[in-house]
Amino acid sequence: MSEWIVVLALGFIVAAAVAFPLLAGRARYEDVAALDADVERYRQALAGGTVCGRCRFANPPGSRYCAECGRELALAE
Ligand SMILES: [Zn+2]
Repeated sequence: MSEWIVVLALGFIVAAAVAFPLLAGRARYEDVAALDADVERYRQALAGGTVCGRCRFANPPGSRYCAECGRELALAE
C-alpha cells in the first residue's frame, strides 16, 4: 500500500547524499591559508595556460592533461 512512500523516501535520501557533497564540498575553505593556496595555484595555472577549458580546474604549470576531467590542455607556446 504505502511501499511507494518508502521507495520515494529512499530515493530522496540517496539523491541528497549524492548532491550534498557536490553542492557543499568545493567552494568552502576551512581557513585563509587554504584559500590563499588555492588562489596561488589558480594564479600559476592562469600564467602557465593550464586552466582547463572544460571544467576550469587549475592544473599545475606544464600539465598536458587536466587532472580533474582528463581533457587535453591547449598549451600556450
Ligand atoms: Zn578539466
